[in-house]
Amino acid sequence: MRDKIKVMTPIVEMDGDEMTRVMWAMIKKRLLLPYLDWKIDYYDLHVKHRDETNDAVTVAAAEAVKRHGVGVKCATITPTPERVREYGLKKPWKSPNATIRAILDGTVFRAPILANNIKPFIRTWRRPIIIGRHAYGDVYDNTEIRVPGGGRAELVFTPADGSPPTRREIHDFQGPGILQAIHNTDASIRSFARACFAYALDRKVDLWFSTKDTISKTYDGRFRAVFDEEYESTWRERFAAAGISYFFTLIDDAVARIVRSEGGILWALKNYDGDVMSDMVASACGSLAMMTSVLVSPDGRFEYEAAHGTVQKHYYKHLKGEETSTNSMALIFAWSGGLRKRGELDGTPEVSAFADLLEEAAIETVESGVMTGDLLAVADPHPHNRRVTTEGFIEAVGEALAAKVASWRGTS
Ligand code: NAP
Ligand code: MG
Repeated sequence: MRDKIKVMTPIVEMDGDEMTRVMWAMIKKRLLLPYLDWKIDYYDLHVKHRDETNDAVTVAAAEAVKRHGVGVKCATITPTPERVREYGLKKPWKSPNATIRAILDGTVFRAPILANNIKPFIRTWRRPIIIGRHAYGDVYDNTEIRVPGGGRAELVFTPADGSPPTRREIHDFQGPGILQAIHNTDASIRSFARACFAYALDRKVDLWFSTKDTISKTYDGRFRAVFDEEYESTWRERFAAAGISYFFTLIDDAVARIVRSEGGILWALKNYDGDVMSDMVASACGSLAMMTSVLVSPDGRFEYEAAHGTVQKHYYKHLKGEETSTNSMALIFAWSGGLRKRGELDGTPEVSAFADLLEEAAIETVESGVMTGDLLAVADPHPHNRRVTTEGFIEAVGEALAAKVASWRGTS
């Protein structure tokens, strides 16, 4: 290897837990360290270390992403009562992703990784369908009442300035039932809209947004109005110049159209719709390990990760010394996504070019039939297909990458 590729600005690295931590180290050693001359701003989000620092390390990591602009995160355990026992934690700390999201105020975009021998179950999908999920409010932050019997339910808003409250009757109950109240804020909807327009422009894909504003005229109507305002005031011309479009349609119409589309769309969705539809798209694309995720803040900070978790069951096998066949694609793409963005922000095209080579090496390895067990089960059958171990897959990508970098060096 001649000179290493120089990365100008430090990359924020957030290490994680279990099987993804094992793969994370392998990826760094085999696919990144040999090629990059870089500075890492490292945060260890291992669940024990979060516990030892009373979760201050998670906050510090998010602050570092704010400072440097690009972070890459490994999957992490969200502590539950079982995990508290398993690791002897002081308490069930909040999900690191929720902490980081709250600090960066971002929108999560999930995009599948496509390989030509792993066909989506929906045959017309040729290009990725990216989901942009509003990660604030609605039913995820609701207030509910189990209504025991007859009575009147009202929605009341009391203005802070002392003016008279607004009241609306919800229902006059004649017997038992249920009640739910949800909210959202203009500020959050607006930053969601901005993140979606910015991300669609960045990826040069059409933006679709869908709600049920025919039924929910005020609530969903507000989402639609904010998107329309943003588009008209800030994005219409930039979209036209990039040859992409913004399209609003009702959620049920959007679902029907998505299934018949070719893909190549960013689909912006309210919180619940995004939760449901992102799992539908992930599973239709073959494996959770083929789904990338990026948190984009309205002021242009980026945090890349795999959409899957720590792959706990495989880790327990690994601990027992048994062979594993865990897929590192989404983790590799977290790194390549971060590096490409770093290259763009720093104006260092060779860093972005390296990220492209890394992704090509990974995809071509799968397309050559070398893959982990999860993919073998859904890949087009072919005599050259073979199941490799966790290490075996990363090693094969490493060989493909070395060849690519050598020929790139030879011609540049
Ligand atoms: P998971 O880690 O996503 O794994 C669920 C199952 O999906 C695995 O058992 C495996 O199926 C399959 N799978 C996922 N990723 C795979 C990969 N890379 N290669 C091959 N197969 C893969 O979800 P989980 O087991 O429910 O959660 C484990 C931990 O992850 C939890 O502590 C949770 O808190 C955490 N989590 C973290 C994040 C994050 O940091 N972003 C996200 C979600 C969950 P088979 O067992 O059938 O092979
Ligand atoms: Mg879901």
